[in-house]
Amino acid sequence: MKVRALLTAASAATLAFALAGCATSAPSAATPVAEAAPAPAHTPIVWDLTDLYPDAAAWQSEHDAVVADMERISAYRGRLGRNAATLAEAMELTSGLSKRAVRLFVYATLRGDEDTRIQENLARRQLGNQLLSRLGEATSWMNPEILTIGERRVETFIRQEPRLGVHAVNLRETLRFAEHTLTPQSEAVLAAAGLPLGGPQRIYTQMAGSDIPWPTIEIDGEQVRLDAQAYTRHRQNPDRDTRKRVFDAFFGTWRQYESTLGEALASNTQGQVMNAQVRNYGSAREAALFANALPVSIYDQLVSQAHAGLPTLHRYFRLRGRMLGINDLAYYDIYPDLLSYDATYSVDDSERITLEALQPFGEDYLNILRQGFAADWTHLYPQEGKQSGAYVFGAAYDVHPYVLLNHQDDFDSLSTFAHEWGHAVHSSLSNSTQPWETSNYATFVAEMASTINEVLLLRNVQARATSDDERLFLLSQELELYRGTFFRQTMFAEFEAQIHAAAERGEPLTGERMSEIYLALLRSYHGADSGVMAIDPAYALEWAYIPHFYTNFYVFQYATSVAASTLFAERLMSNQPGAQAAVINMLRSGGSQHPHEMFVAAGVDLSTPAPYRAVVTRMDAIMDEMEAILARRG
Ligand SMILES: [Zn+2]
Repeated sequence: MKVRALLTAASAATLAFALAGCATSAPSAATPVAEAAPAPAHTPIVWDLTDLYPDAAAWQSEHDAVVADMERISAYRGRLGRNAATLAEAMELTSGLSKRAVRLFVYATLRGDEDTRIQENLARRQLGNQLLSRLGEATSWMNPEILTIGERRVETFIRQEPRLGVHAVNLRETLRFAEHTLTPQSEAVLAAAGLPLGGPQRIYTQMAGSDIPWPTIEIDGEQVRLDAQAYTRHRQNPDRDTRKRVFDAFFGTWRQYESTLGEALASNTQGQVMNAQVRNYGSAREAALFANALPVSIYDQLVSQAHAGLPTLHRYFRLRGRMLGINDLAYYDIYPDLLSYDATYSVDDSERITLEALQPFGEDYLNILRQGFAADWTHLYPQEGKQSGAYVFGAAYDVHPYVLLNHQDDFDSLSTFAHEWGHAVHSSLSNSTQPWETSNYATFVAEMASTINEVLLLRNVQARATSDDERLFLLSQELELYRGTFFRQTMFAEFEAQIHAAAERGEPLTGERMSEIYLALLRSYHGADSGVMAIDPAYALEWAYIPHFYTNFYVFQYATSVAASTLFAERLMSNQPGAQAAVINMLRSGGSQHPHEMFVAAGVDLSTPAPYRAVVTRMDAIMDEMEAILARRG
């Protein structure tokens, strides 16, 4: 599967409106996997974008109207602190504009993704992007001005003026950054430095995406150009020798660029460190987590609990070796399926099974699913020119979420279906409960809302399996979810923390040094010293292949999400009193609270060991069951 973070946030002043996009989970693969679209075997099922605008002309005229209305923002410059009514007027104006601009952006994105080859769609998409950045520029003076008004006066305004009620969360969020905001002159310098500081990531993207000459090797009688997409497809080849050749060729190519890519990642890391230092943060990690008010102790707890769980991960690798019939397990043996099991799931099956599996959420949740399935919210099947992968766009506040899938009737499609509908229901619950201003939720919460559906789905289909093979297959899928999303993402998180810490200590950070750090982590996570798995140092170049290392301190959220999901799922399935209401309330809370507060209120404290232990306990239970089946079969 793949990660496709569709969304960027554009932030217009105090409006922390991000666009709730989603990525499909299981981010074990680092890059989006673009599958070739097979010939359509189904009647196309497409979403109805007339719920957004009757036609493209209506989109254009609304776009022009928003551009014209943006002119009114500058009239408030220098006046926000005058009185509560003026502040309320300015907030209402910009908030209303952001809601309209985001809806325009949603339409432009969705229409573009229906067929990425159509020029008119590309042009509209550019207009949508430009609109958000123009709004960002038009409101860029607001946060600094709110900071100069100061907390006391802003709080007085909030008490005096009821119209500021819906804006209070965002105003306080702006004020929270006061101690990390510099003088206007320094802010201007940092803003100007943004472009060159983004250079390393652009260089990386350019090299990884197009400049590196990927080797061509023969796989199953065909000549395959082994770029990142081909690598993710062929690393699970059932033939061991083929897997080794795939790994050797792929990482051997990265090796040739070790020093250049090391400079790129080191520069990116140093840029983050500099930014954190000048803004008075204790570390780059602290700065990254401050954005969502997340305590650093969550990160440390995650890492230490993953370490504590390594014996269980190693038990899984031993079981993997046994089921694959391999005595000397190597790093290229982690991807192939443990047994072949071909089941097909039509869209009707996906809908039916998802509804069954998510019953623990209760009727309110299920009713949104039923409503969404019956209406035209989804672009369902692969077709030529369509965007690959899967996502949910829930940011058109007064409409409904839109779901992009590429359903191919296999188990992955079923799992993705349940995952994405988790995002859709989350958006729907948040939008129907919160005002626009606090309807957008953080990634830290979003991936829990989707991963929990994967967990509940797996548990449901496992319980209904009709053969040993089916049951073993479904249990192994759940093990893979935890390996890829809990352990692997935590290993990435640890690598990020280590290279940032090295940069903060002023240590030289070369490509060779990064390979050393990464190799030590690979060895420890995969039990190299205890003979669980051999790690060829050549594969330590994997750090160069992971694009997320340029998005600082992001991937750890996948690991925390799957841990929280596992604990919530256990509580829902065992009908623990209050569990259902706690989870539903959390989904309804949108962005009205900081994510960690929301988790704690729902009964999951990610700064404690409990959620992470739930993952490890569950993995052991799965393996007990698999080993019992294998023992019975002899
Ligand atoms: Zn997702």
